[in-house]
Amino acid sequence: MNNNKSLLLFILCLIVFSILASCGKQSVVDTNFGLVIHGGAGTISRDRLSPEQEQNYRAKLEQALRIGYDVLAAGGTSLDAVEEAIVILEDSPLFNAGKGAVFASNGTNELDASIMVGKTLQAGAVSGVKQIKNPIKAARLVMEKSPHVLLYGDGAETFARGHGLEFVDQSYFYTERRWQSLQKARAKEQQTEPDKHGTVGVVALDKHGNLTAGTSTGGLTNKRFGRIGDSPIIGAGNYADNRTCAISATGTGEFFMRTVCGYAISARMEFGDVSLQTAAEDVIHNEIGRLGGTGGVIGIDKSGNMTMVFNTSGMYRGYMMSDGQPVIKIFAD
Ligand code: ASP
Repeated sequence: MNNNKSLLLFILCLIVFSILASCGKQSVVDTNFGLVIHGGAGTISRDRLSPEQEQNYRAKLEQALRIGYDVLAAGGTSLDAVEEAIVILEDSPLFNAGKGAVFASNGTNELDASIMVGKTLQAGAVSGVKQIKNPIKAARLVMEKSPHVLLYGDGAETFARGHGLEFVDQSYFYTERRWQSLQKARAKEQQTEPDKHGTVGVVALDKHGNLTAGTSTGGLTNKRFGRIGDSPIIGAGNYADNRTCAISATGTGEFFMRTVCGYAISARMEFGDVSLQTAAEDVIHNEIGRLGGTGGVIGIDKSGNMTMVFNTSGMYRGYMMSDGQPVIKIFAD
């Protein structure tokens, strides 16, 4: 073989080798990516929030955004980004999830969470758990390590313990603010702050084009009779489908369940060929609002368009897209 032929053969081998090598990797399309987060919607106005409180909320929301963004920017999955950002919010006493969960009527904290990946439509959720420090991690475990979608109460905790999740004493979830809310609610024999929702949620699109949605909550103050809201219900408070969008909701859960909020937004996009923004506005204002429900949603679609729609005076919310600029908002403006 002369020199030219061996050179040609060598180049051909290189090409074949690099094609084979790239087949084994997940393709990274460095295009639109980002995440949107919420920390609950409600009667949030400037005169009710001191500058210091406002600053605390902004700082925590930004921390969660940056954690999620870093995962996505490094080529990580939207699933990891959503879980990691929600853990930050669950560990903060500011929000009604994890550490800051509200109290049920019997003085306990009963937490709900769910997660869904849009590529496979796999989902996991837990409800009524009392000692799992980060319910979003338990939801992910249900999705990845069990054949089920939703586990409740003691069973969910036995399952999570078996997989090594961190457990805490119920006293971990005690915060004076939430305890006082329960006392007020008991005095009035109703749920207090029906117009204040501190649930947290994150939706993300990664560089691989995959969507994930996650939601975590303590539910409603003074809830009783084993009440479960929309947050752990796939299709209601949480939904993701790569063909359309990822959605996380906050608000009076009963209305979000009756309207199947997350799926209703996705279905409008899939069958009605409308934008994420139009679909979310229609469901929040025309469906949930019409029935008397209050709250909001965050969403992101497969192209990286995002939405934050609510029918309350404010919603703790923010987003950070591929440009790397975090945007945090609280009030309606
Ligand atoms: N949606 C939650 C529930 O009904 C409450 C909230 O968003 O604060 O349990």
